[in-house]
Amino acid sequence: MTEVFTGSFTQQEPIPEEGIEAALAVMRGGRLHRYNVADGEIAQTALLEEEFAASVGAKYCLAVASGGYAMGAALRALGLGPGGKVLTNAFTLAPVPGAIASVGAIPVFVGVTENLTIDLDDLAAKADQADILMLSHMRGHLADMDALMAICDANGVTVIEDCAHTMGAAWNGVPSGRYGKIGCYSTQTYKHVNSGEGGFLVTDDAEVMARAIMLSGSYMLFERHRAAPPSEAFAQIKYETPNVSGRMDNLRAAILRPQLRDLAAQAARWNERYRVMEEGLTGVSGLTLTTRPDKEYFVASSFQFLLLDWADEAVNEVITRCAKRGVELKWFGGAEPAGFTSRYDSWRYVEADRMPKTDRILSAIVDMRLPLTFSLEDCALIARIIRQEVETVYQASA
Ligand SMILES: *Cc1c(COP(=O)(O)O)cnc(C)c1O
Repeated sequence: MTEVFTGSFTQQEPIPEEGIEAALAVMRGGRLHRYNVADGEIAQTALLEEEFAASVGAKYCLAVASGGYAMGAALRALGLGPGGKVLTNAFTLAPVPGAIASVGAIPVFVGVTENLTIDLDDLAAKADQADILMLSHMRGHLADMDALMAICDANGVTVIEDCAHTMGAAWNGVPSGRYGKIGCYSTQTYKHVNSGEGGFLVTDDAEVMARAIMLSGSYMLFERHRAAPPSEAFAQIKYETPNVSGRMDNLRAAILRPQLRDLAAQAARWNERYRVMEEGLTGVSGLTLTTRPDKEYFVASSFQFLLLDWADEAVNEVITRCAKRGVELKWFGGAEPAGFTSRYDSWRYVEADRMPKTDRILSAIVDMRLPLTFSLEDCALIARIIRQEVETVYQASA
């Protein structure tokens, strides 16, 4: 009998009851805007920022409208303007080069390794081309952060971390987002906490945070922030910084607070699912798994494997055969960007040289979401289906 998977790759878990109750309370009060507070009340948004800052050990935190907004604000807060260059990953998702383009700056792409992390040799070779690295921890794979910081420090490159896929993760015990000067996170539905849309920016730098708060649209109400520098930090900045509105509201903050408390437990559940997938796909001919270094603590909300040096038709055949059995795989090597799988040569607003080593990897990456609504049995079944189809196609093409 041919097994078929019938679950959904895009179904998230419900918002915890506590979050639903808190959201109802915000709606009953009618004070959804973060600066609309009753006497003595602390806005949900301000409380969330304090709690998130504490969870990653950052001095300051700002909650914003999206992860993409956080990245754009981070670049602006560092003083980047039109024509400036920013190093970033060739393997990432569209909001990353998009955030760079949103300030009129130009991405300089850095290659990807077989382990799906940024290629540190390529980074070292290009480090003199820009003052900022927008480092995307794409699909939750963390590069050797100590080695990366050594390269960036030696070249005077300021690091912003895109932690859309690494909220709750760590390298060598340091929370993701805390190696760089600024960490950016997303709370969009498919990330590790879910408010539909939303994001955070964290830093220990008072000036950067004062700018980010003004940018986000705080009018002159920055004193209502709690995970923020003292008002002296705003003395000049409040006059000099344009308002590019992108605040978070109290409704989203209310549903995020309980999810943040659950994050570590959720991460453990994600990783159990990951290990089942990994075990099920170990030793499949033609299929390469990424290795996870001991120093990396990851949160596996998705799963990747590589079909290295396969012909395009053979990869397509695997994807089609798996789809027929209910397993939705995405391929980063397709000729046309589809769904979330665009890559550096799809972003044609950027002039970029071909990167042959990176093209080889990109054309091999197969990706799937790992929602927490999958049981461990579901993951074992999905792995069995992928294993059978990869082996079938591999043997036929050998
Ligand atoms: C989702 C995502 C972002 C930011 O996303 P928003 O949808 O703007 O919150 C940034 N980087 C990566 C890699 C992402 O997947």
